[in-house]
Amino acid sequence: MSETRDLGPEDDGAEEIRSIRASVAALCAEFPGEYWRAKDTERAYPAEFVAALTQAGYLAALIPEEFGGSGLGLRHAAAILEEIQKSGCNGAACHAQMYTMGTILRHGSAEQKAAWLPRIASGDLRLQAFGVTEPTSGTDTLSLRTTAERHGDHFIVNGQKVWTSRAEHSDLMLLLARTTPKDKVERRGEGLSVFIVDMREALGDGLTVRPIRAMINHAATEVFFDNLKVPAENLIGEVDKGFRYILDGMNAERVLIASECIGDARWFIQKAVDYAGGREVFGAPIGKNQGIQFPIAKAYAKTEAADLMVQKAASLFDDGHRIGPEANMAKLLAAEASWEAADMCLQTHGGFGFSEEYDVERKFRETRLYQVAPISTNLILSYIAEHVLGLPRSY
Ligand SMILES: Cc1cc2nc3c(=O)[nH]c(=O)nc-3n(C[C@H](O)[C@H](O)[C@H](O)COP(=O)(O)OP(=O)(O)OC[C@H]3O[C@@H](n4cnc5c(N)ncnc54)[C@H](O)[C@@H]3O)c2cc1C
Repeated sequence: MSETRDLGPEDDGAEEIRSIRASVAALCAEFPGEYWRAKDTERAYPAEFVAALTQAGYLAALIPEEFGGSGLGLRHAAAILEEIQKSGCNGAACHAQMYTMGTILRHGSAEQKAAWLPRIASGDLRLQAFGVTEPTSGTDTLSLRTTAERHGDHFIVNGQKVWTSRAEHSDLMLLLARTTPKDKVERRGEGLSVFIVDMREALGDGLTVRPIRAMINHAATEVFFDNLKVPAENLIGEVDKGFRYILDGMNAERVLIASECIGDARWFIQKAVDYAGGREVFGAPIGKNQGIQFPIAKAYAKTEAADLMVQKAASLFDDGHRIGPEANMAKLLAAEASWEAADMCLQTHGGFGFSEEYDVERKFRETRLYQVAPISTNLILSYIAEHVLGLPRSY
């Protein structure tokens, strides 16, 4: 399959990005399908893979150099994650270590940045748990029920989160909790605050983490807070303003997840091309049939188109623009492209698509997640309808 060409002469970061891609691909080659299959069967955490990425510095790509990271842009980070997925690996085990720190970077105090960012950059501290979703509120984040009440020099947290990924493999958690009751706030988006919870201290002392057995090996958990004490110095930014801080970080997250979807789509397309060229039925390669070729070609074209939106969103972000529409469209289009490619790849493989040995069924399950998380397709469409097209809010 031919590689995507650069955007043009103005694409000045292309050389550096190409070199990053090559290094990431070399690292990923050490973690072939057998490795991921075994982890999937055991529902085990890919600790060796995460350690290799950490050591190579990829997870600190977005942390500025003054705090020990590489100070790279979102385009670079997106290329890293795309390459991981394209190699058949799964960046979901640790992608949050790349971007969750953005809330501290953008809204934390000088002391908080100095205390946490260098240790996150080195990998000494893992900040890859992000507690937003709750069982009752779901997508309606402003209705979340976990509370944080101020008592002198600390807050007391009570409540529950669900689907908190990687909580068992993280030292810190970025937590969104209600600090002012919903009916007492002046503006709709106020009353929620963001905290850093040190889970190493809290486990067994107000914090309980329970794994959720799920369709994919994603280290998902539910988390319970029972009078958990969080020092007031762990509040990020101003009290009651946390929802805005979280929204700020979500655009970068959406672009990065979209780039993972592009990587997945490319993996499925390559896998299908290889199989269609080699599998002979009725005395000819199945790839000779247009019924097999066309879905592959269509998936390729849609992936390339979605990738343009991902690149646009990442470039605009790196140039300091607000990217709500582009980040949402990138996530929507890339997740659709990866899902269409997954379905096509499974169909191309016929019965063997269902066999664990080919990795198609595992990747098929894994990429399905991005229709739902971190934001579901319907909610993206609602965003575009309301905020881009000016249609009435539907909910
Ligand atoms: C494997 C996995 C890992 C996750 N990791 C994390 C994590 O680390 N941290 C975290 O905080 N969350 C995490 N999540 C949660 C994820 O972000 C939510 O599942 C997702 O945002 C959808 O919320 P919900 O499941 O509560 O669905 P609901 O909000 O209950 O929605 C159910 C369905 O209804 C649709 N819907 C809801 N409201 C509307 C509307 N107004 N109009 C049209 N359709 C609507 C939705 O699109 C969805 O399809 C994870 C989820 C999974 C499955």
